[in-house]
Amino acid sequence: MTSLLLPVPLTTNAMNPLSDLAENPFPKPLLIAGPCSAESEEQVLAAARGVAAAGCAVFRAGLWKPRTHPGGFEGVGEAALPWLRRAKAETGLPTATEVATGIHVAAALDGGVDFLWIGARTTANTFAVQEIADAIAASGRNDVAVLVKNPVSPDVELWLGALQRLERAGVRRLAAVHRGFPSAGATAYRNEPQWQIPMELKRRCPTLPVLVDPSHIGGRREAVPTLAQQAMDMGFDGLMIEVHPAPDQALSDAAQQITPAALRTLLTHLTVRVGTGCDHELAVLRQLIDQCDHEVLAALARRMEVVRRIGQLKRESNMAIVQNQRFSQVIASRLEMARELGLDTQFVNDLMQLIHQEAVAQQL
Ligand code: PEP
Ligand code: MN
Repeated sequence: MTSLLLPVPLTTNAMNPLSDLAENPFPKPLLIAGPCSAESEEQVLAAARGVAAAGCAVFRAGLWKPRTHPGGFEGVGEAALPWLRRAKAETGLPTATEVATGIHVAAALDGGVDFLWIGARTTANTFAVQEIADAIAASGRNDVAVLVKNPVSPDVELWLGALQRLERAGVRRLAAVHRGFPSAGATAYRNEPQWQIPMELKRRCPTLPVLVDPSHIGGRREAVPTLAQQAMDMGFDGLMIEVHPAPDQALSDAAQQITPAALRTLLTHLTVRVGTGCDHELAVLRQLIDQCDHEVLAALARRMEVVRRIGQLKRESNMAIVQNQRFSQVIASRLEMARELGLDTQFVNDLMQLIHQEAVAQQL
């Protein structure tokens, strides 16, 4: 456990905070797993045994749950602290829980919790993060490890700002957790990965460990293994995975939690990218290509939706579908954009013709 908790100076340059992190104090990959919420002593112990048997380094369980609507399961709170202590005594794993207020911090630290994490909704609230940072400083326990999840908006400055508040409060064992960003339209994810945001954080803070939470990104348990592998392929530093002994009965995030057995299978098949050669670079680039294609197809789907609305307007106004003058303007302006963007104009011309063909078909 101590190897997870070595203190390191995070900042040496006040103008460029967190850019000069010392050695990453955590093992790579840092594997954290456990239930979304602590529900009962029995459930906590069963999950902790499974997480330890799978070879993870830290056991997580949420005690205070941020819920969108009131009246749902909001966690059992401090009542779970003895369960976490028992889980730690039995398995030897350090424990982690989410804190959102100074009261949570004091209770978790008094209760023997080793890692605190700040949830996405809290990271977005600078007052709440400051309150947490102040509570850690006041407790004299700035040896505690703190994980900062990305804020709900894709804003790398806000994420970095939260890390800086903790750093200024004297916290030295810091890591970030990428859990994706809510998206407006229908997507394959609960929270869009937008990998460029955590990559930018890593670029700015090269030795800050950045973990990935495939459970909250995917939102479905089937998506978790692929996302976990993608995180390793892109060189992220660890994983936070939601694990529950009976996921379908979970009181929160039932759809995305996996069983301890599924966690073992996932970790057995996980390839950790330790090479520095071409294979790794190729995997990183292919991941970016996948993300680009995802964006291109999502934009095409939005375009076709607009096309159908135009089709309806034309029908109501008794207009012909193909308006050649408008199409000529579209082609001319897209070729101009192509030149500005350094794209081959023939390719863009062919592509626009194809898109136009499909748009006409959609309006028929
Ligand atoms: C969680 O980890 O259970 C959680 C609530 O996370 P997030 O803040 O990423 O939604
Ligand atoms: Mn959860």
